[in-house]
Amino acid sequence: MTTTTDLVSYEDALATYDPVMGLEVHVELGTKTKMFCGCSTELGAEPNSQTCPTCLGMPGALPVVNATGVESAIKIGLALHCEIAEWCRFARKNYFYPDMPKNFQTSQYDEPIAFNGYLDVQLEDGEIFRVQIERAHMEEDTGKSLHVGGATGRIHGASHSLLDYNRAGIPLIEIVTKPIEGAGERAPEVAKAYVAELRELIKALGVSEARMEQGQMRCDVNLSLRPHGRDKFGTRSETKNVNSLRSVERAARFEIQRHAAVLNSGGTIIQETRHFHEDTGSTTSGRVKEEAEDYRYFPEPDLVPVAPSRDWVEELRATLPEQPLARRNRLREEWGVNAHDMQSMLNAGAIDSIVATIEAGADSASARKWWMGELARSANESGKALEDLPITPAQVARVAELVTSGDLNDKLARQVIEGVLAGEGTPDEVVDKRGLKVVSDEGALTAAVDEAIAGNPGIADKIRGGKVQAVGALVGAVMKATRGQADAARVKELILEKLGVGEG
Ligand code: ADP
Ligand code: MG
Ligand code: ZN
Repeated sequence: MTTTTDLVSYEDALATYDPVMGLEVHVELGTKTKMFCGCSTELGAEPNSQTCPTCLGMPGALPVVNATGVESAIKIGLALHCEIAEWCRFARKNYFYPDMPKNFQTSQYDEPIAFNGYLDVQLEDGEIFRVQIERAHMEEDTGKSLHVGGATGRIHGASHSLLDYNRAGIPLIEIVTKPIEGAGERAPEVAKAYVAELRELIKALGVSEARMEQGQMRCDVNLSLRPHGRDKFGTRSETKNVNSLRSVERAARFEIQRHAAVLNSGGTIIQETRHFHEDTGSTTSGRVKEEAEDYRYFPEPDLVPVAPSRDWVEELRATLPEQPLARRNRLREEWGVNAHDMQSMLNAGAIDSIVATIEAGADSASARKWWMGELARSANESGKALEDLPITPAQVARVAELVTSGDLNDKLARQVIEGVLAGEGTPDEVVDKRGLKVVSDEGALTAAVDEAIAGNPGIADKIRGGKVQAVGALVGAVMKATRGQADAARVKELILEKLGVGEG
């Protein structure tokens, strides 16, 4: 079933309407055990091997709150400048779905642990936009369904479905913004910058690795349009589980264009969930949205209320790390880079790796160059996150050191990195195994230079005659003969010396 969606151009949509957004981000906490039982949260185990009567919803099994989960939720709330509830409860959100054996999700409803905060995010041009936070609440993840036998992995066309409850009960924090107004044409950029900033914050707090590509952090993008000058919000659509920064931006942009087309043609937007498709950058209709009352929320009778003492909250506040935005501003000063370049490093998830490489001894320019160049390219090609590449910051620092000392030039350094990534060993081992060293032995260089001059008498004559630019061809010949292992600047000097020509 393919249907094309009518769109108006982005510019035309913005000429008539103001976008309003709401972002709901789910973060899987990195606790060792689940939110309400002692089952392990370790990824990659045999399906259904990490389950117990509690997370399978067996009769008589009783849940117990994971204290580390509550602590993480409070830390997130504090870092988002939220108030922390003195007393709050869990609630049952009732609905049936096969991936949820209890028939309800244990969540929080009208009593979230944290509420009324904000997060400042920085846009590409350096401007700061403040996103207001409605709430951050605790809940649990569902299991996973695997639909088998169809072409798409979706339930349509599948012959049967398999269920894995290992994920059921893993702690989640859901962070919900207030309606984001006033971003105008920059709404998609704000959405992306907000999720990027939140990811940095969560990582800095150490409560989750917040890997979007692994589903540890996912974002629902609510969006509506209203004509310029109108106060009342339009009807929103809710694009679910968007799982990369780039997709968050594209999903918002697409929905702006789609809503505008519907509204322009006199149609009405229906409140529904939608799915985002990476390949086309478009969204398609999901299900018509339930209202809160459909879930028949009620306070969870099997769990005691959570009442964090003010002393504990203050203790946790004292452990908060430097805000990532403040840290980036500090690093920008130290490294001498502009807001745009810092944003690129943020979006690439490269900042921690660069900092670690500098701590291991590299200068900041080299650390940035390798992580944002060669390594970013390699990560892109293999579809991996930078931190998953099989190279450590210390190893990158070692490569930078070999370049500084003149043992390697950039070209050789790239080959060393390639070798490390290919599992050939440490940088020094790759240098040895592949025989990669700048030829600095003057005797060997002179011989190669003599050979290049003898082999290219025409070019040599031109240079003698004053066409110094032609030296490039001879340098090229020497570099080729030494398999790129010569110091090109020194080679040029030697050639000009031999031909009796001064530079310039
Ligand atoms: P639900 O759980 O039904 O998705 P929530 O109120 O928890 O509802 O979340 C909705 C999100 O969308 C919030 O971030 C909210 O600020 C935002 N929102 C609410 N109404 C609108 C609207 N008309 N247009 C855009 N965003 C909206
Ligand atoms: Mg929602
Ligand atoms: Zn369990």
